[in-house]
Amino acid sequence: MAQDMNQQVIFLPEGTKRTRGRDAQRINILVARAVASAVKSTLGPKGMDKMIVDDLGDVTISNDGATILGEMSIDHPAGKMMVEIAKTQDDEVGDGTTTVVIIAGGLLEKAEKLLNDEIHPSIIVKGYKLAAAKAKEIFENMSEDISVSDKQSLKEIAITSMTGKSAEGADELAELVMKAITQIAVQEGGKVTIDLDDVKVEKKVGGSIMDSQLIDGIVLDKEVVHSGMPKKVENAKIALVDAAMEIKSPETDTKVQISDPDQLQAFLDQEEAMLRRMVESVKKAGATVVVCQKGIDDIAQHYLAKEGVMAVRRAKKSDLDALAKATGAKVVSRINELTAADLGKAKVVEERKIAGDNMVFVEGCKNPKSVSLLVRGGSEHVVDEAERAVKDAIGSVSAAIRVGKVVYGGDASEAEAAAKLRDYAKTVGGREQLAVEAFAEALEIIPRTLAETAGMDPIDTIVALRSKHSSKEGKWIGVNVYTSKLEDMKKNKVTEPLKVKTQAITSGSEVAEMLLRIDDIIAGSGKGKGPPMPPGGMGGMGDM
Ligand code: ADP
Ligand code: MG
Repeated sequence: MAQDMNQQVIFLPEGTKRTRGRDAQRINILVARAVASAVKSTLGPKGMDKMIVDDLGDVTISNDGATILGEMSIDHPAGKMMVEIAKTQDDEVGDGTTTVVIIAGGLLEKAEKLLNDEIHPSIIVKGYKLAAAKAKEIFENMSEDISVSDKQSLKEIAITSMTGKSAEGADELAELVMKAITQIAVQEGGKVTIDLDDVKVEKKVGGSIMDSQLIDGIVLDKEVVHSGMPKKVENAKIALVDAAMEIKSPETDTKVQISDPDQLQAFLDQEEAMLRRMVESVKKAGATVVVCQKGIDDIAQHYLAKEGVMAVRRAKKSDLDALAKATGAKVVSRINELTAADLGKAKVVEERKIAGDNMVFVEGCKNPKSVSLLVRGGSEHVVDEAERAVKDAIGSVSAAIRVGKVVYGGDASEAEAAAKLRDYAKTVGGREQLAVEAFAEALEIIPRTLAETAGMDPIDTIVALRSKHSSKEGKWIGVNVYTSKLEDMKKNKVTEPLKVKTQAITSGSEVAEMLLRIDDIIAGSGKGKGPPMPPGGMGGMGDM
């Protein structure tokens, strides 16, 4: 297995043009399994972290499957498909990214054994399809109800999805996530909807994770632009501007011929007059706060300060969008056309010092469903990982509310599903039965991996877990990684959304089936394709 310094997971052998039949399957399986084994050790609260160093020496330390895979440069198409499912899981649920990759890798590992026993790939695919559908049904049947008002359980879900990611402060962060999601959830006639655009995650290095806070509104990582401006505005009327409050320097080399000093003065006066007009229209519309996406000229700043208007410049576009949604403001491009109807409302806009830096808090917005989570931590790596943990938890908690169902972790649910799937296999019969049984075994790789991270013997653990689940001793018996014992995970309050499990089954089995169907890998000419994506795709480019 080629795994070299610059994180190539596998190379197609030099000069390979075409691989057919079993060789094609074998290579795809090999690659997919390699990707799965790369993230396997991170599973669960006792999972290890990975340090990824890129070409420029930038370091990412993470325990998050999607993040790790996103940072690795993987060339082989089968490997890319594995990265893709982690991304899908992240987009659809926001958690369970390691799980989905391990399931896909496990399904392929078990399929390889069946292939070696001369079982045709189409039989395996058929058996896997039956098993995936049945497994989802089993998960649904074992799941329990949850609602927006079950605050304690929702907090437990947040804790479960964060454990292993941020050692200290998980409890505090979980509380904040639970509060944020229950605040933005909208209940309408028995249905609950959550718009994740309503919760903004902002991070600031300094202090500790315990200093993280939930803000009833929006935080901008910006300062008030001029010292003469108010630091606090109550009952604010907010203008959002996406154009510069500056006189643009000419695009082409324009020469302005000035022959005497009076003309120069007139020219400067005219510039000033234009800036003054901008400020006047802000004033006329009745705005008391201006958030500008571009620059604000010194002269404009001066006049705004004189008018008692608070202003922030070079705000991110995403901030402007969030503010528009929260305060009800319309983003305008022509300041001179600003009207009172374009302004948004908030109870307080205030600049506060956080870890030595000024940040602007916009609180008590017109839309009470708008919240921000300000994540704090002692160093950049801590804050980054805490942010990822918070995002996982946000995904988990909202997935639980949307679907309204939970299961219990420590991989009790996978063990239970595997046991039930084995009963089902007997009813399938034929060679497909073997594939359904293989599917059950693949599911067991999850508790088995968890046992390994807890230093338990994986084989003994699986044997014990199997006997407990087949004797119906308790459907929630799973691996407690803290005590290294098999315990009832419902009693341990390790709560997880059903959606994490069903989505992982869907994506994991789909990619396994797709790879099993391939019997020919052909090197194409690449004609008609665009230029290659930069490593890691477009991710990490950040907000401009
Ligand atoms: P993923 O990226 O798949 O979410 P995680 O590293 O978050 O991977 O680990 C998730 C797994 O850890 C789940 O299978 C879950 O049941 C298990 N887990 C989480 N908390 C606990 C706990 N306190 N005890 C045992 N297992 C846990
Ligand atoms: Mg997780």
